[in-house]
Amino acid sequence: MKNTLLLQKAYLNGSFIDSKDTFTVINPSSQKAIGNLPDLTVKDCKKYIQTAHKAWQSWKDVPVGERAALLRKLYNLINDHKDELAEIMTLESGKPITESLTEVDYSNSFIDWFAEEVKRAYGETIPTLSGNNRMQTIKQGVGVVAAITPWNFPLAMITRKVGPALAAGCTVVLKPASQTPFSAIALAKLVDEAGFPKGVFNVITSKDSKGIGKELATNELVRKISFTGSTGVGSTLMEQAASTIKRISLELGGNAPFLVFDDADIDAAVSGAITGKFRNTGQTCVSINRFYVQEGVYEEFSKKLTKAVSELNVGDGLNKKVQVGPLINEDGLKKVEHHVKDAVDKGATIATGGKRIKGLFFEPTVLTNMAKDSLIAEEETFGPICALFKFKTEEEGIQAANNTPFGLAAYFFSQDVHQCFRVAEKLESGMVGVNTGLVSNASAPFGGVKQSGLGREGSKYGLDEYMEIKYICFGGN
Ligand code: ADP
Repeated sequence: MKNTLLLQKAYLNGSFIDSKDTFTVINPSSQKAIGNLPDLTVKDCKKYIQTAHKAWQSWKDVPVGERAALLRKLYNLINDHKDELAEIMTLESGKPITESLTEVDYSNSFIDWFAEEVKRAYGETIPTLSGNNRMQTIKQGVGVVAAITPWNFPLAMITRKVGPALAAGCTVVLKPASQTPFSAIALAKLVDEAGFPKGVFNVITSKDSKGIGKELATNELVRKISFTGSTGVGSTLMEQAASTIKRISLELGGNAPFLVFDDADIDAAVSGAITGKFRNTGQTCVSINRFYVQEGVYEEFSKKLTKAVSELNVGDGLNKKVQVGPLINEDGLKKVEHHVKDAVDKGATIATGGKRIKGLFFEPTVLTNMAKDSLIAEEETFGPICALFKFKTEEEGIQAANNTPFGLAAYFFSQDVHQCFRVAEKLESGMVGVNTGLVSNASAPFGGVKQSGLGREGSKYGLDEYMEIKYICFGGN
């Protein structure tokens, strides 16, 4: 198939542009080059911001119905090009093609959701307490939005920001991850075809993440930064954005716990564990990182999980039978090796897997008898490793789960309804999966507490992130 969306260009003011400097994007599965993209500079970034600012002057006044109709056109185009988008995603991220196809639908659900939700961005009429004033509020788009996105969901992390931003009447400068920029350019092609006005959506491709990030975070024409990525970079951006008091949304790292209680349905827990752990080879911010299993079911759960994990099919994502792809790069793989070695050095047993296969592929792994002070207890591994810790009481399990500076997703399995409410309320995380390993969808608020971030994406709250409330007071007489 000739992929008409695979373009070696950046996108500015409604044009696909080149640059004399380029950088190469690698397929992590074959470690071969996919193509080259413009390596744009901080100077280019200033031009991008000015362009988005100019486009905002008219885009903000386009009636909501027209903005929603354009998003609807984009939604249809994404549906029409599902296979091409999924192929690009698998080529540049390595994720299995079945997951890429699911991600295209998931990405598009944000376009659908926000095209509708913006029609209900209601203001209020406020009762007058004394005198004759009349008071009301309206909601308006914040202005130019800078979106910085990671490589693990090359399309969904973009639409989750761009969908509400465009719906709200904001214009966007998007800086996608340099590992997976082709998905962003493919989206730009469809935005272009849908007929959005020039300059409303722009994609800057660059290897200079630091320089571009700093410009986006400090330029006073940018009114909002929306970032998904590591906590360290999020913290830097927050500091940089402080100088111009920008609005900021941060979706950062997690260290998700998964608790299995004594009366859990173990088969369901194993299936939830596979979904919550192995999606995108364990490289998602809501991936389970720490398994806490109550002592009464520890043996049964670890045995059944080990069997299921040893049956996973690892390989090149374009093969439809593959369930687990490669790690994104050598650094990612080294981190996984380091975490496994640390766990084993501290007494863990390898129940299955445990080593690199070849290239960037690592065996799906189960480690049992994890020591409490293992690195995996503290940091995200971002790889196909299930690390099993044992606990005795509910209180001990919750305490271990909460013993982290992060709080994005948490999961647990139990069939005791009272326990379900108790534990869900006590877990310190923005999202809790009860008897499920999958929580994300466009109509629900996605986001973290503690050092996992600020703000929510998706849901009715995801639109508010891109809108200001304006209060208007009409004097009476
Ligand atoms: P990950 O570990 O998922 O790659 P990063 O936080 O490093 O997480 O990257 C997420 C996004 O942030 C990518 O688009 C990356 O290019 C970008 N990025 C990396 N460093 C910086 C920085 N100092 N300022 C702004 N953006 C950055």
